[in-house]
Amino acid sequence: MKAFQNLTWKEAEARIKGGLVVILPVGSTEAHGLHLPLATDVMISEEMAWRAAVKLQARQIDALVLPPIAYSVTDFSKAFSGTISIKQETATAMIRDICSSLYEQGVKLVVIANSHLEPLHIQSINAAIEQVKTASGHRVAFPDKRKRRWAEKLTEEFRRGDCHAGAYETSLVMVARPELVREAVRQQLEPVTISIAEKIREGARSFIEAGGKDAYFGNPREASCEEGESSYQALSDMLVEAVMEALAQRAT
Ligand SMILES: [Zn+2]
Repeated sequence: MKAFQNLTWKEAEARIKGGLVVILPVGSTEAHGLHLPLATDVMISEEMAWRAAVKLQARQIDALVLPPIAYSVTDFSKAFSGTISIKQETATAMIRDICSSLYEQGVKLVVIANSHLEPLHIQSINAAIEQVKTASGHRVAFPDKRKRRWAEKLTEEFRRGDCHAGAYETSLVMVARPELVREAVRQQLEPVTISIAEKIREGARSFIEAGGKDAYFGNPREASCEEGESSYQALSDMLVEAVMEALAQRAT
């Protein structure tokens, strides 16, 4: 059993009393190229969360995965059909309220597993964490995979910043939900070697402005299950390390 929502309330009560760690997968509903589903970030966050829960259980830390957040600030891909963007304050309020509700019940630690990397979205998470801390003193663990410490364990394409629906994310979906990758389309896609991170620094405010007319960057043709497996290994280790550090800090 790894899903929090499949517990009964009595089971939840017992697990929380025993010192439960919960992982909140955070994704988005947004365009991911011509070959990946809108739910790409949700699937990636859930898969890394599942794997981290298994690793934590193996270390005798009781951990469960929460129902995911599938709506976020996605202004960069607003021009593409199917993308659902919410306001920054809505995103912050939702994450803050979920964490506060869990801490009020006595959950030991909430950790955020995030895969959507738009700057305003990351800001909405950090603001939520600040508000929880100010209101209750509780700390939410949030390893930000863009930080060098974690990014250096991920792929070169990810670090270059052309990481939206390219080889990195495509490989992760190929492992988690292979049936949802439009394989024939993927094999025809030309690489888009543009760093979104760099374009954002130069002032781009949308994927179109950054040069991604089909809502992907990087090279989806280079994706493989092997790469996906090794990225999940790094992403789940990142969550486990963040939990271990937060628990150690809590003990002092
Ligand atoms: Zn994504």
